[in-house]
Amino acid sequence: MTKITVAKGDGIGPEIMDATLDILRAAGARLDIEEIEIGEKVYLRGNSAGIEASAWDSLRRTKVFLKAPITTPQGGGFKSLNVTTRKVLGLFANVRPCISYHPFVQTKHPVMDVVIIRENEEDLYAGIEHQQTDEVVQCLKLISRPGTEKIIRYAFEYARAYKRRKVTCFTKDNIMKMTDGLFHRIFTEVGREYPELEQEHWIVDIGAAKLADTPEMFDVIVMPNLYGDILSDVAAQITGSVGLAGSANIGAGFAMFEAIHGSAPRIAGMNKANPSGLLLGAIQMLVHIGQQEVAQSIQNAWLKTLEEGIHTYDIYKEGTSSQKLGTREFAAAVIERLGQKPSVLRPVDYAGSKAIFNFEVTPRPLKRKELVGADIFIQATGASAEGIAKAIQALGTDPLTLTMITNRGTKVWPEGFPETFCTDHWRCRFKSADNRPLDYQSVIDTMHKMSQAKLDIIKTENLYLFDGEPGFTAAQGQ
Ligand code: NAD
Repeated sequence: MTKITVAKGDGIGPEIMDATLDILRAAGARLDIEEIEIGEKVYLRGNSAGIEASAWDSLRRTKVFLKAPITTPQGGGFKSLNVTTRKVLGLFANVRPCISYHPFVQTKHPVMDVVIIRENEEDLYAGIEHQQTDEVVQCLKLISRPGTEKIIRYAFEYARAYKRRKVTCFTKDNIMKMTDGLFHRIFTEVGREYPELEQEHWIVDIGAAKLADTPEMFDVIVMPNLYGDILSDVAAQITGSVGLAGSANIGAGFAMFEAIHGSAPRIAGMNKANPSGLLLGAIQMLVHIGQQEVAQSIQNAWLKTLEEGIHTYDIYKEGTSSQKLGTREFAAAVIERLGQKPSVLRPVDYAGSKAIFNFEVTPRPLKRKELVGADIFIQATGASAEGIAKAIQALGTDPLTLTMITNRGTKVWPEGFPETFCTDHWRCRFKSADNRPLDYQSVIDTMHKMSQAKLDIIKTENLYLFDGEPGFTAAQGQ
């Protein structure tokens, strides 16, 4: 028996959860279920997170969460329960298998079996955003070495455990050389430990185009958070039905499993909804808790049901489908076929698949860190780069020297182009001579002088060398 926590959610949630649990029970899943309440009712009771403290206790006890979709009430002030759960429980990996079931479910991509593994905690989703000037707002993109190593290791371990042949990494490291560059570098480093797996990297724009056009060339794809968020939806959509995809959110001690669709309030309570997305999430859960044989038996029965043309209304099609069934009747049809295998679609084989992977982060010695300058950002409305440079140079900022001014990353001083469009947001780069290590006080002194000269400082970034290598990029146009 494995303890799990179940939440039936809102809208179609209770119907598809009941159908899913009926199938799991009939297949002999060994589950000890604790039920918690989450979602709309909890939000409307004034709990802005949509989940009670007692529910966290259950999750801490079981560490496995099977979750039906919820409805987030309209209006502000409600926090996304998914984001909260992911962050609080450290669910760093989002795993979304996207498979087409041609010819039983219509799709432009009959041969598609892709697993998207998305980093779940970092990147632009840290939610650190600021308005800095009248004209400019910013969002911080944070990529950490341990966070990246965990997701990359997870992707390779997943590929090995599920007998996959290839792992692809998507980044935009031709532009974001430090953040996406780190993600790509760690992919290459960790990949050396998995020589049996084919490995490749694509720049995300062309990679995304290929994924949408020829998904059959991909197998497992690992990505930073934002690209993964967007492309996992694209991948699920082009299989032919978003209603047929489940997803897993995995952390070191916790895991959450769900359908990727929402609570579909318009069809709630009508016994019409397709329970397949949640069922496939539950199948991922069964593999995760070590009940591979039950997972396999359910998925093969479900594939058999699908290929017999027994469909819910959302995928029903005259000519391909044989029967249009409601939620409960569809679940009963799957139960009837337990023990059978599909004959056209490929049966699944989870024997030997394990779910507990080693994603230990390699300890690294601290690098020698030397301060060699600072980027001091100022707001200056209607200013010119020449004017700002003159004003700063008049201050005498030794041992720091103004070496460059950029506007939205483009160098505008020295030798800028008059054509460059400028906003009110200027970055002034100060360096020490020959990268000589500085005391932070010299940065503070420079800022003090600038502030006294009425230059409107909005933020600073320190420029460091790490083991002698610059920890900052040059400007575009340099
Ligand atoms: P939705 O996914 O609920 O519905 C989109 C469309 O797909 C609708 O036409 C719906 O009828 C259909 N559909 C969805 N699931 C289906 C199923 N199992 N069977 C048959 N048809 C299905 O998206 P939405 O309408 O944008 O959102 C509704 C609510 O769900 C919102 O409150 C949203 O915040 C919430 N939501 C929750 C989750 C989650 O809990 N993980 C995810 C997405 C949306």
